[in-house]
Amino acid sequence: MIYLAYGSNLHIGQMQFRCRTAEVLGTSTLHGYRLVFNGVATIEPDPDSSVPVLLWDIKPADEIPLDRYEGYPQLYRRETVQVELNGKTVDAMVYIMNSKGIHFDKENLDTAEPSCSMMFSFLSAIAQDESRSISENVRWGYRERFKRGEYNLGNNRILGYDCVDGKLVPNQDADAVRMIFQMYIEGKSIEEIRRLLTDYGIRTKKGQPLAHNNIMYILQNETYMGDKLLQKQPPKNFLTKKPDERVPYESNYLENDHEAIVDRKTWDTVQEIIRQKKAVTAAVGRIGGRPHFLYGKLYCGECGEPMTRRTLNGPKGIKHKVWTCRGRYEGRKGNGCKLRTIKEDLLLQTIEESIGCEVNAENAAQIQRVVITEDDIAVETS
Ligand SMILES: [Zn+2]
Repeated sequence: MIYLAYGSNLHIGQMQFRCRTAEVLGTSTLHGYRLVFNGVATIEPDPDSSVPVLLWDIKPADEIPLDRYEGYPQLYRRETVQVELNGKTVDAMVYIMNSKGIHFDKENLDTAEPSCSMMFSFLSAIAQDESRSISENVRWGYRERFKRGEYNLGNNRILGYDCVDGKLVPNQDADAVRMIFQMYIEGKSIEEIRRLLTDYGIRTKKGQPLAHNNIMYILQNETYMGDKLLQKQPPKNFLTKKPDERVPYESNYLENDHEAIVDRKTWDTVQEIIRQKKAVTAAVGRIGGRPHFLYGKLYCGECGEPMTRRTLNGPKGIKHKVWTCRGRYEGRKGNGCKLRTIKEDLLLQTIEESIGCEVNAENAAQIQRVVITEDDIAVETS
């Protein structure tokens, strides 16, 4: 049977994990439908749209895990659609959700050709949504409580404040917070501040010494100047691990919500210093160059050592980028690993075939690990 996949089943590795005997037939475009979203992805008729799809040949044994994965027949029903495959029109089975969904932004989807970036945007939206089922409920919880005037959730973890009858009230740790802001303005590094605080015996609400990111969080937390921001940031995009501004979310900013620990001028000064430091770091990073996006992800499957990137000088001065097992190239310290050196071109090509898309610095976050042996390159994705 031909099975038409969109959304998360575009992911070849995951699909093959679920359906061991399924085989890829090729990519195609389903015309007259658009991809929509209702907690999970589905498609619905739309004469002006099309959806990039992947066609699979599935065996009867594959249908059971697939039905289970798709939630057939409760969540999804099966339908038959016509689609073009290698110049012929064929019937394909597709799962369609039983209720209506939320639409993707039009500009993200109205493209006739299934492209890499589109598939990535689908995958990202879908993966994000799988985690959303939990966090979204939590967010709605905040939102509802906020509307009822109750917003004590999470506040009892803010250093320097206690939550009393739903209001934030400075406590004995407020001086420590003032000290952190003051030291930062005086030019002390986060590490220096961290050491001083530890010496003073200042702990987090959980009783642990403050870590670097705790201090950065405090320095950028608007709570300390008396404001309250609920729904701080949109859900994170699973590829970039950054908040996805395209995802709708509610932001409720309350000024002078509670007693401030630092004044606004102090808070603003600190934000300006942080901004300048970030700008400097970014500039230095560009001059110095960044490590290759596959660094730390490639491992030798023969001996387990990480792979390192090297430049080989070929004939006529042509340089090749290659990856080689670290165990092999450390001379006497090496473990004598015999894994052959692999050309970067070939490596990238194999990874791209495996994940079904181009790989680059922007989307490399999805690649967890690549294990290279003499006869195989195994790509593990998130
Ligand atoms: Zn090795």
